[in-house]
Amino acid sequence: MSELCLKEVSYQYQEAGRTVPALENISMTVKNGEFVSIIGASGAGKSTLLQLISGLLRPTHGQITVNGQAIQPQKRQVAYMPQNDALLPWRNVLQNVVLGPEIQGKGRRQALAQAKRLLPLFGLEGFGDAFPAQLSGGMRQRAALLRTFLIGSDILLLDEPFGALDAITRRELQRWLLDVWEQFKYTVLFVTHDVEEALFLSDRVVVLSPRPGTIVLDMPIPFARPRQQHFDAYSSAVIEHETALLRALKGKPDATTSIDRLQTKLSR
Ligand code: ADP
Ligand code: MG
Repeated sequence: MSELCLKEVSYQYQEAGRTVPALENISMTVKNGEFVSIIGASGAGKSTLLQLISGLLRPTHGQITVNGQAIQPQKRQVAYMPQNDALLPWRNVLQNVVLGPEIQGKGRRQALAQAKRLLPLFGLEGFGDAFPAQLSGGMRQRAALLRTFLIGSDILLLDEPFGALDAITRRELQRWLLDVWEQFKYTVLFVTHDVEEALFLSDRVVVLSPRPGTIVLDMPIPFARPRQQHFDAYSSAVIEHETALLRALKGKPDATTSIDRLQTKLSR
């Protein structure tokens, strides 16, 4: 099982002779089995952060390790689902979800067998032969998530996987994702710009400042699990956490102190 560690990570894009600083001095650890969300305004560097962790980009400064080992894309230490990740329209569901092992040139048969077993859990029973155009938006996202699962890593990097869904489907998929996570206890790094979604799902929420992204708040979410049963979006504790996150997003300096007060209150 795997611990992900970022140490003083910075990244600058080089674009037409110009340097664009995207992330600055990011240090964080994601423990084995933890569900951590990253929130931040558009352009804060959230997608850049996941690309760095997946090994597609290399940090300008700093180190990223899994269990003390430097990230290398070919080692499959993490499974990355990019933002706007689309299924290939000319392949059916099963052909789409085994794409990872197929490209790697190994484990395709095993992945196919596992995919068939997992179709019901992913709400896709009977749809293995269906093409993306025949699926609902929610089903397409669950298929894309199954593809990420089948990469075979216990760290999942998910970039706004529910961003394009309507509110009801989105809520349904959040609950479903927690069900799956509770069964497998994967480590999840989940990017969203939706504060409520981050609160509902996470053990911790990390807030990035506008570009260049730096960590302005790293907040534990103490609400009982399973959240599907216990979460009350209108409770004062949830609203106070939500307020603290929104303040941090707006760069209000008292964000940390207000949440410290709340956590002292909760621990009494
Ligand atoms: P987010 O996912 O939080 O919206 P991104 O990580 O996509 O943010 O982008 C962070 C910043 O880096 C943005 O200001 C964006 O314009 C810039 N950026 C992203 N990709 C590139 C690139 N290939 N070249 C130059 N700048 C980029
Ligand atoms: Mg993004």
